[in-house]
Amino acid sequence: MNQAKSNKIIVSKFGGTSMGDANCIRRSAQVVHKRKARFVVVSATSGTTNQLISLGQMAQNQNWSETESLIKKISDRHLEIAKDLNLSAERLSSLQSTLDEMGSLAKGIYLLRDCSPRILDSLQSIGERLSSILMAQALERAEQSVKWLDAREFILTDDLFSKARPQINEIYERHQSIRKDLQQSTKNIYVTQGYIGATADRITTTLGRGGSDYSAALFAEALDADELEIWTDVTGIATTDPRLVPQARSINEISFKEAAELAVFGAKVLHPSTLLPAMRKNIPTFVGSSFDANTAGTWIRKEVTEAPLVRAMALRKNQVLVTVSTPEMLNAYGFLFQIFKIFNDNQVSIDAITTSEISVSMTLDEGTLQNKKLLAELSAIADVQIESHLSLIALIGNNINHTPGLAKKIFEAISNVNVRMICLGASKHNFCFLVNDEQGPEVIKKLHQTFIESEA
Ligand code: ADP
Ligand code: ASP
Ligand code: MG
Repeated sequence: MNQAKSNKIIVSKFGGTSMGDANCIRRSAQVVHKRKARFVVVSATSGTTNQLISLGQMAQNQNWSETESLIKKISDRHLEIAKDLNLSAERLSSLQSTLDEMGSLAKGIYLLRDCSPRILDSLQSIGERLSSILMAQALERAEQSVKWLDAREFILTDDLFSKARPQINEIYERHQSIRKDLQQSTKNIYVTQGYIGATADRITTTLGRGGSDYSAALFAEALDADELEIWTDVTGIATTDPRLVPQARSINEISFKEAAELAVFGAKVLHPSTLLPAMRKNIPTFVGSSFDANTAGTWIRKEVTEAPLVRAMALRKNQVLVTVSTPEMLNAYGFLFQIFKIFNDNQVSIDAITTSEISVSMTLDEGTLQNKKLLAELSAIADVQIESHLSLIALIGNNINHTPGLAKKIFEAISNVNVRMICLGASKHNFCFLVNDEQGPEVIKKLHQTFIESEA
């Protein structure tokens, strides 16, 4: 972090709850001014992305009257916030045309009975486009001018709709003039959308659910930002999900690597890819509550002062364990390559993996099983067994793979639980294993007691 710099570039992101209504948006705008953030990235107002997805499904299923009433509900909510924030005529007209676009897209889906991922991405983009117009108004004040940007002109992605991948080099190029402006003066403040991007042909894409965090980090990287701030509804990253364990406490400082693993293993507070851009450019990242901005949150940095054995734990629900086996694997080579090639060709990522002489077990998100081609291709080369309703439990910390007695302590704490698969050794920052979905919350509570509460 560049302490001496008077003109620090701070990118600030506000999640759905921080954009929930006019008061939340005003409060978030105050946080921006107080922290002197220069580039603001927003999520859709809370619940809107889910509603837009339902809208697409209703229209596709030919439920036009339900579709119409949901269109009205989304429109009314945003128009009401607009009224409360006293939107300028120009912003009101952009808001209205974005709402009209939502109506047209829904009609198109209804008529064509087609709500493909490509169309759904366009429909979902409405959420962030609306909220960013509202935030632009809330940010207005005499000393700065607010510039609204369409993120689709800056975040270039591939065409993997619903999980599009950003094209980092081109994104950096596209930020050249804003980067220069931010470096040279403080007169402008920028506001744009998280979650969305566009292909080279300008077709709208999204970065995967919860992707506004990732967008904010991509903007921070492209702007050579000094800091990234993620404002949400909790006072930082906690030792585990506070909804699961009320005793969870906020962590002051955590390393990039630990926080990245925590996010990958299910801590919803950060999208799994968020820290990749921050790590590439070594941008210190802060997570805090927009509702309580004075309470210290969490700093995520490359170097941290403490490195506890167990810092935090996460639960990732709805996992499946896919076991692929064949006797042909015995003393043979090339088999793992074939399996991974199938996953690669189907663009499916594997989270945890163990192998034996004749089988490989991998955990995947349950939704992946909808990919029938993947299963058919695996079945063509081996026997495939699937176990579902599993949860991946991950302990995150330091030196985990070199600490004698850790596994014993874990399994003693949960001795009554049937553990399906264990992964230890690959990373010094995590230990993970699978349990049944129903037992997941209980396991987290027990491990939190053993490793966090009793260590306090
Ligand atoms: P936003 O809309 O601001 O992006 P999210 O709902 O995506 O917010 O993420 C914040 C939520 O993440 C919190 O309300 C909390 O329930 C959940 N969460 C899960 N694990 C953790 C954790 N380790 N620390 C803090 N919050 C967590
Ligand atoms: N609005 C999007 C979602 O609900 C992105 C985000 O909130 O980060 O997934
Ligand atoms: Mg989120």
